[in-house]
Amino acid sequence: MVERQLRRREIRNERVLEAISRVPREAFLPASLHSQAYEDRAVPIGQGQTLSQPYMVAAMTEALDPEPHHRVLEVGTGSGYQAAVLSLLVRAVRSVERIPDLAREAERRLEALGITNVRVGVGDGTLGWPEEAPFHGIIVTAAAPSVPPSLLEQLSPSGGRLVIPVGSRAGQDLLRITRRDGETDTQVLVGCRFVPLLGEEGWPTA
Ligand code: SAM
Repeated sequence: MVERQLRRREIRNERVLEAISRVPREAFLPASLHSQAYEDRAVPIGQGQTLSQPYMVAAMTEALDPEPHHRVLEVGTGSGYQAAVLSLLVRAVRSVERIPDLAREAERRLEALGITNVRVGVGDGTLGWPEEAPFHGIIVTAAAPSVPPSLLEQLSPSGGRLVIPVGSRAGQDLLRITRRDGETDTQVLVGCRFVPLLGEEGWPTA
């Protein structure tokens, strides 16, 4: 997967490639879907949600430019796979999931793999995790209609990065927003399609 799908598509950060090669993707899928674990596409994880395509996990992780001393917030724990990849790259990961069953299952998987620097919370991740802020990086793995102001506020003011898909429900642009000296700089990275980010600063839940 790393050679065929990621290096060929210009993923260059060796730390990110190494972390991805160390996390067993099948451990985050039900047994019936293990054969699909390394295919180049998103895989269903139940509750109408998906584990993102390997390339997208790699591209988002690379865009975050994770360093060993960083503290990172993930919004949209899903299966826990992205959090497991991040756990090998940074000091501490906080991950929020709105569906309690998915959060519980992800926690169980992370524990089974002996990962101890990830904390999973249940709630509306569009509001971030204020008690744990600021974060060097925030990664949102669901599609937002616009950038949630709470997440921008919880970024480190000295170079914090928010990686987030923003657009319509049908398709989005992956953005990287860097906060520095009271200003934000936005880069458009790639087109993508995620499940919706539902919540107070996302799409309406009803
Ligand atoms: N990162 C996940 C993984 O590694 O398996 C995949 C995430 S899946 C594409 C998107 C997830 O975002 C879903 O599990 C969904 O329930 C969750 N989600 C949507 N809106 C949310 C919100 N406001 N707060 C937290 N999680 C949310």
